[in-house]
Amino acid sequence: MVLVVVEHAGGLVDELSLQAIAFARELAAGEPLDALLVGAGARDAAAQLGAHGVATAHVAEDERLDAFAPGAWARCVTEVVDRARPSAVVAAGSNRGNEVLAHVATRLDLPFAANCTAVGGDGAGGSSLDVTRMRWGGSLLEEARVHASLPLLSVAPYAVAAAPVNGAGAPAVEPFAPALEPADLAVQVAEHVEAVQSGVSLAEAKVVVSGGRGVGSADGFGMLEELAGLLDAAVGCSRVVTSAGWRPHTDQVGQTGTKVSPDLYIACGISGATQHIAGCKGAKKILAINSDVEAPILNNADYAVIGDLTEIVPAITAELRKARST
Ligand SMILES: Cc1cc2nc3c(=O)[nH]c(=O)nc-3n(C[C@H](O)[C@H](O)[C@H](O)COP(=O)(O)OP(=O)(O)OC[C@H]3O[C@@H](n4cnc5c(N)ncnc54)[C@H](O)[C@@H]3O)c2cc1C
Repeated sequence: MVLVVVEHAGGLVDELSLQAIAFARELAAGEPLDALLVGAGARDAAAQLGAHGVATAHVAEDERLDAFAPGAWARCVTEVVDRARPSAVVAAGSNRGNEVLAHVATRLDLPFAANCTAVGGDGAGGSSLDVTRMRWGGSLLEEARVHASLPLLSVAPYAVAAAPVNGAGAPAVEPFAPALEPADLAVQVAEHVEAVQSGVSLAEAKVVVSGGRGVGSADGFGMLEELAGLLDAAVGCSRVVTSAGWRPHTDQVGQTGTKVSPDLYIACGISGATQHIAGCKGAKKILAINSDVEAPILNNADYAVIGDLTEIVPAITAELRKARST
């Protein structure tokens, strides 16, 4: 049996977990597929999993599990592992999926292969398991062999399509109350803060005006906002900018931010580090505005303007206004 850790919200299974289930079915190669669901709404979510080939849903029930706590989720996984003896454990390559499996790996002293895209070798339970893993934000695919009595694998987001199976009934539900210890709840989500969303969403925008350290300050983003307003664009940024607190993390483009695929990505004062390019390489065209003619972003850019962005960005804005008023 292969066990999948399934994330859900409001009783609905997350898309990334459905992708992880499709991956796990491939890995299981005919062996049964079990799921583990934790927290409020778990039973409702479990009922949706039969259509994805899950035979048994282990549902961890304890009101202390309603707020996400990685240690507590890891406790639930290790209890199911002890009881049901899966041949592999799979989770979505989400922040939570990776965090929970990292805790499981330390507790069980096992290796953990994160962000897998495919499996090969003898599969789960066989003598060898080969995986392809996404590294460096998707810039590199690694072929690796997992040497473990129990492989722990997370699935790279959007690398595998969710695929319902025909004719499967609702899964059997096996509720259990995990023996949580205070240390399992030492780190727990305390509050949810909704992202401030104004205008076009970053992930779906046709044009993104993005700023990096070269913008200089939070106030400096005013001119990028102005240009974005004229282009019906979203504003993005590099990690240096979010680390400096100039923009919220929700605006960050890159390996550890949002992946964007607009028609046009305007990179202002961004050097073009691999981790940033991982988030914008899906753009059809990249325009770089940079004072350094040797900035790495120029290797990825279709167009470049070399110079000071505090002069160039307002000049573009002024030209657009002029063109629109005539
Ligand atoms: C595990 C990991 C994950 C990461 N994830 C991300 C991620 O998701 N997204 C991300 O962006 N980074 C990420 N990073 C950080 C990344 O490595 C870089 O440090 C970061 O992208 C650099 O940001 P920057 O281009 O704004 O700054 P810098 O590298 O400092 O570049 C500033 C650029 O601005 C130009 N400039 C300066 N002044 C002007 C001006 N007046 N006019 C025009 N140009 C000017 C400079 O020539 C330079 O090219 C990650 C790093 C690690 C290790």
